[in-house]
Amino acid sequence: MDLISLPMMMLMLLTMPQDEFPAGMAMHNFSSLDALPFTPTAIADLKIQVQLAAIAEQLPERPKATLLEIEGADRKLLALRHYLNRHDDLNHEWTWSRAQFQQFQRTKAYRNAIAEVELVKAKFAELNPGYSLGTSLQARPIEEQLESWNSVPSVGAAAQSLHQQLRQSLVDSNLTFPADSLDLEPFRQALLTARLPIVPTVAVPGLSQHGQLRAFDFVVKQGGTVIAGTNAGAARSQWDKPGWTKKLQEAIRAVSRNFSGPLRSPYEPWHYTYRR
Ligand SMILES: [Zn+2]
Repeated sequence: MDLISLPMMMLMLLTMPQDEFPAGMAMHNFSSLDALPFTPTAIADLKIQVQLAAIAEQLPERPKATLLEIEGADRKLLALRHYLNRHDDLNHEWTWSRAQFQQFQRTKAYRNAIAEVELVKAKFAELNPGYSLGTSLQARPIEEQLESWNSVPSVGAAAQSLHQQLRQSLVDSNLTFPADSLDLEPFRQALLTARLPIVPTVAVPGLSQHGQLRAFDFVVKQGGTVIAGTNAGAARSQWDKPGWTKKLQEAIRAVSRNFSGPLRSPYEPWHYTYRR
């Protein structure tokens, strides 16, 4: 049985008029069903599952496979919203596999990027004696992006709000749901237009700019210790207040025009996009 079949079957049984039930399957024969919480909310959740799976089915292979690795309906829905919004990027901006990154490491574009990062680090150290910059020169693998998406609280909060809004719109709608007229458009619209109370502080898995090394996150170190890191909560206290936001920008601007940033939404003073 695939992703869609079970919730779909349950929905059909629940919403079908009793006299159309297949022989021997009348509702009163399902004594165990009485014990299940078939509230309007539970039925809405089943509808969400069916439509989530049906829309996911239309995605390219890698986003589709990645959705299966995302934990919980909330976070899956939020990821699906991002994938629909960025449908045109799903193939060419998708995070590299290890082999793809290794291939990139043999190119001139990679050597140029590394050389520019080194220039930034040297300039920063020169302008700020006693301090240095650190950054990863690796593409961020999909597993790492998934781990963040599955655990970061801002993703959880945005995802929960999205799920609640979808559930409410379905509770308010007609409960009949014939399988042969599965019109995904209203659900797709609701998914795309819901207003979220919070911006997720990590990129949706697969579409992080770090997945193709199109961005660098810098940290400020004093000796071997990171004093300005890349945690969502550190932007003001570790970067803006002590002045590192400005100092990083100064060092970057002094040596290269290929970096743009820092990232505004979510606000990440350490994140610079790199154009190659
Ligand atoms: Zn970043």
